Amino acid sequence: MKADLFADQIPFLKPWLGEEEAEAAREVILSGWVSLGPKVAAFERALAELVGAGEGVATTAATTALHLGMIVAGVQPGDEILCPSFTCMATINAVLLAGGKPRFADIDRRTYNLEPAAAEARLTSQTRAIMLVDQIGLPAPYDEFADLCQRRGLILIEDSATALGGRYKNKSLGGLGAPASFSFHPRKMITTGEGGMLMLNDPEWAERARVLRSTGASVSDLVRHQAKGTILQEYHESGFNYRMTDIQAAVGLVQLKKLPEMLAQRRRQAGFYDAALSELDELDPPYVPEYAEHAYSSYCIRVRPSCPVDAHTIVLRMAERGISCRHGIQPLHTEPFFRETMANLHLEETEAAARETLFLPIFPGLTETQQLAVVHGLKESVAR
Ligand SMILES: *Cc1c(COP(=O)(O)O)cnc(C)c1O
Repeated sequence: MKADLFADQIPFLKPWLGEEEAEAAREVILSGWVSLGPKVAAFERALAELVGAGEGVATTAATTALHLGMIVAGVQPGDEILCPSFTCMATINAVLLAGGKPRFADIDRRTYNLEPAAAEARLTSQTRAIMLVDQIGLPAPYDEFADLCQRRGLILIEDSATALGGRYKNKSLGGLGAPASFSFHPRKMITTGEGGMLMLNDPEWAERARVLRSTGASVSDLVRHQAKGTILQEYHESGFNYRMTDIQAAVGLVQLKKLPEMLAQRRRQAGFYDAALSELDELDPPYVPEYAEHAYSSYCIRVRPSCPVDAHTIVLRMAERGISCRHGIQPLHTEPFFRETMANLHLEETEAAARETLFLPIFPGLTETQQLAVVHGLKESVAR
């Protein structure tokens, strides 16, 4: 019997994988070329075309894609990088990998993304770059940050890990101009198991990112293979092993075909929750600014002050009903890793959002019947 990890409850998420992905992986395995090769190149082209970026450089994760993005954009060891604290530790891990010093700024109360004025107020003479995160699938106010970076001579990097399919002023994330990265972890919009991609416009930056991705060798394995080993590679700088495999890329190509349907389902599900929550005084649905199309990688709700119970209690009560919710993002500046260096830092909106938000189940395949059960569970869970 096939084990179903998600059998007897409403899961928080469930990747949408099937026979077609299995068949694509099988074909690659039987082809004999399993590491970085033609499927990776095809996946890079397909995604770059989809989002309107010049180039895609596929890697092992969004973390490593961001690392490469910072290097090619000119971030140097010791540079201070302005980041939200309301993000995944992976964002900061990438900054630390590049030798950067993270400096946290507060978010907008409604979008959970970096707030331009709050960010500007936190800039110092040491700040070299801003790491803009499109959090929870919602595009951040890109133009304001692009202007700010231009005015202050800063590098802009975009962490779009969660937000593939999101659009800003009718343009796809990943194609806005700054180096941007996507994640293909199962919790994100499409999955290759693990994986990520760096989106770039400058072909020279893309070339350097590809070299750095694969040991620093000037010639890729595929090119050498095609030349029957007659080409010698050179090393102009040391690199990494951040190579995506062709097995992953083949799965990614199938997932990419499904993306429009996955987005449509998530938006429909979000609309369903929005309507249901409009009848509940205790909870706020996610806010979507005029400029944005939300990808709804997560559906984040906020507990209003009028609610007699807190977000934690709601998550516990939902779990008792077999409905899996999650707490909102925990502020990084209060983590033990940062506590010593950031003891006096208070980010009011970040800390409030962490206390007052939770995520509801949302994923392709979630049915209306399940959503009704979620809404019913919420109605009972917000009671005293
Ligand atoms: C998931 C996530 C990452 C990291 O993605 P990986 O592919 O796991 O490295 C980075 N930033 C944000 C905002 C994320 O949600």
